[in-house]
Amino acid sequence: MPSGFPTYDVMNPVGEDDRWEQFDEFHEFLEDRFERIYEELFVTKVNEYGLVMHWQGSDDSLPPILLAAHQDVVPVNVDTINEWEEEPFSGHYDGTWIWGRGSCDDKGPLIALMTVMEELLEAGFTPRRTIVLASGFDEEVGGKRGALQISQYLQSEYGQDSFAMVIDEGSGFLNMALEGDNTIIALPGTAEKGRTDIRVEISTPGGHSSFPPKHTSIGILSAAVVAVESAQHTPELLRDGTPFATYQCIAEHFPNVPDSLRRLVKEANEDDEALDELKRILLELYPVENSALLGTTQAVTLIGGGIKVNVLPESASAIVSHRIGQHSSVTEIREHLTGVLRPIAADFDLTFDAFGVEVSTGSSGHLSIGTAFNTALEPSPKTPTDSSSPYEIFSGTVKAVLEGSKVHPSKDVVVSPMLVLVNTDTRHYWSLTKHIFRYSHFDQADYYNGIHTVNEAVRAEAVIEHIRFLTTLILNWDEATI
Ligand SMILES: [Zn+2]
Repeated sequence: MPSGFPTYDVMNPVGEDDRWEQFDEFHEFLEDRFERIYEELFVTKVNEYGLVMHWQGSDDSLPPILLAAHQDVVPVNVDTINEWEEEPFSGHYDGTWIWGRGSCDDKGPLIALMTVMEELLEAGFTPRRTIVLASGFDEEVGGKRGALQISQYLQSEYGQDSFAMVIDEGSGFLNMALEGDNTIIALPGTAEKGRTDIRVEISTPGGHSSFPPKHTSIGILSAAVVAVESAQHTPELLRDGTPFATYQCIAEHFPNVPDSLRRLVKEANEDDEALDELKRILLELYPVENSALLGTTQAVTLIGGGIKVNVLPESASAIVSHRIGQHSSVTEIREHLTGVLRPIAADFDLTFDAFGVEVSTGSSGHLSIGTAFNTALEPSPKTPTDSSSPYEIFSGTVKAVLEGSKVHPSKDVVVSPMLVLVNTDTRHYWSLTKHIFRYSHFDQADYYNGIHTVNEAVRAEAVIEHIRFLTTLILNWDEATI
């Protein structure tokens, strides 16, 4: 019995870790399984494991399309192996579900994509428009060795802004049948929030704990964390923001939205008071969800300090993880945090360094803040959604595939732009096109237990639907002239 390919996200450079061999084996499997692709298309490897497959079209005046899916998966926690109903790398099909780590995120979609290309080759399809498949191999840890280098390769081969569109993993659609209405809403990610992790570090002199100062590094860090949490970022509802477009769409098409709210959303298009009132109501109705959509969020996610019970801690640090709202920027977050912590530095008489600049001086120790883990990513550009843009081809395809689906009978399909709260490999593809769609053609109910957890499994029938969607997308793009 083959045990599958645990293509875990590896932190060490390519080649400097045994776990990279899993990718060699996975590539051998792909070559074996997708013979036509490897024989008939131009397949190249970028930085060893990045895959780029070029399918030449007959009309060079049409910009190519880029279809992406990543090969790496998050590890299976060894403590939870017994909770898996099937072996996590078995790929077992039980008649309903296909089991295994990566079945939903993102090797299942990669296999679906390659199946579509293999089958189109088999059927004798010859594209007018060039089709490129790109597959990174470290999306789960930032994509710097995979998608980033693939993007640099694509820029050198095809040029900047050279693709008609990119489609990569993302949100899917929601079938509202359970809510008692007939609507399916598909939510392609047309923008992503930004991100930055910031380390807050306190250093004070060490010593024996039997004659301590009033506040140790840990105590001061605690005061800093309290200050950070007391100064939340204010959510903003902006008319040109992606969430506003989502609310407009939901209000217009969902039968279950109360009439008064529907009216308010419409009025908010022009009336500033209605816009403020709408924001207030949305934050009251779903505070966590709407704060995340409309604003910058911050969460203190890591903390460390102290080495021994009778030793004063010379340092203590915490990480504040930020997801940056569409209206904000990395610089604004840095300035905000600097302002929030300046009084702490003064209260505890500390020298304060913020992002390499000395802000103030003190004599009892140091407070410093700086970017952690090299994460500083601005909010993404917004994919245009106007009626003459590639969004029309994309949303038209989603609608047509769902309306023609036997799996989802009798329904009204609505496609709405959405802001994605996390980042995908597309963060590295901004310079290839303005038209980026983060979308996987799945319903939440098509996942047995979600992604990144035990019992990752995908409904086999849904994989076929996803294949139908990708095939239609390729064919529709081949007929389009933009
Ligand atoms: Zn993924």
